[in-house]
Amino acid sequence: MVLDKYKLLLVDLDGVVWRGGKVLEENMAFLRAAHSKGVRVVFVTNNATRSRRLYAERLSSILGLEVNADDVLTSGYATAVWLRENYGAARILVVGEEGLIEELTRQGHIVVGSMDPPRCPIDFVVVGLDRSVTYAKLTAAHKAIIECKAGLIACNADNTIPTSLGLEPGAGALLAFLKASTGTEPLVVIGKPNTYMFELALREKKVTKSEALVIGDRCDTDVEAAKRAGLDSVLVLTGVAGERGDKCDATYIVDNLMELA
Ligand SMILES: [Mg+2]
Repeated sequence: MVLDKYKLLLVDLDGVVWRGGKVLEENMAFLRAAHSKGVRVVFVTNNATRSRRLYAERLSSILGLEVNADDVLTSGYATAVWLRENYGAARILVVGEEGLIEELTRQGHIVVGSMDPPRCPIDFVVVGLDRSVTYAKLTAAHKAIIECKAGLIACNADNTIPTSLGLEPGAGALLAFLKASTGTEPLVVIGKPNTYMFELALREKKVTKSEALVIGDRCDTDVEAAKRAGLDSVLVLTGVAGERGDKCDATYIVDNLMELA
């Protein structure tokens, strides 16, 4: 049985925990079963708009279990850690929302205002989804890259984001804007299918690769990142792959997570 084989589950949010604002109860029953067997559950999401703290609160109330901020990895948190590990505390211009700014600040970075002309030095422009983005903010980011030689970093390159009102433009669309205007490629895209978030989770939880299982709803991000990282994976058909009929060679493919129990 799956829950006897692994010590850590790396669980995606959208399409696994909820879908279009609706909680996927059968998947939640499995996560509660995992918890009661002492299997650690860490949530790993490309979405950088909310802070880990806010996700933890929401997940605690959905699951009826205590979920700590330490049990949630967003691409915003991972970007903040990656930057600190590779460059130390940096001066950063953000195209993104409060949750991303909070994670960057918590890791010791300085978030500068979107000024035009830019106040150099600015080390990096970090792009996440920003649902109140303006032309002025994108111009400030553009000028920071061109005039301050700021490096371009993306939390993720998801071109769309699923919402209760259908697909909407994602962080990848804003990244594409800045790539086009500056002619610059990002130094790194932190989110899945990059393996960094999984590697960070294994490191933080002190678990080896063979002890961890990735659970996600997408072939191109979740299963692909698991494969690249050398981790077993579950493709659960409650989200994107199920809807589109996508196929990939995940270790397990299930209609919902209770099939694993
Ligand atoms: Mg998903």
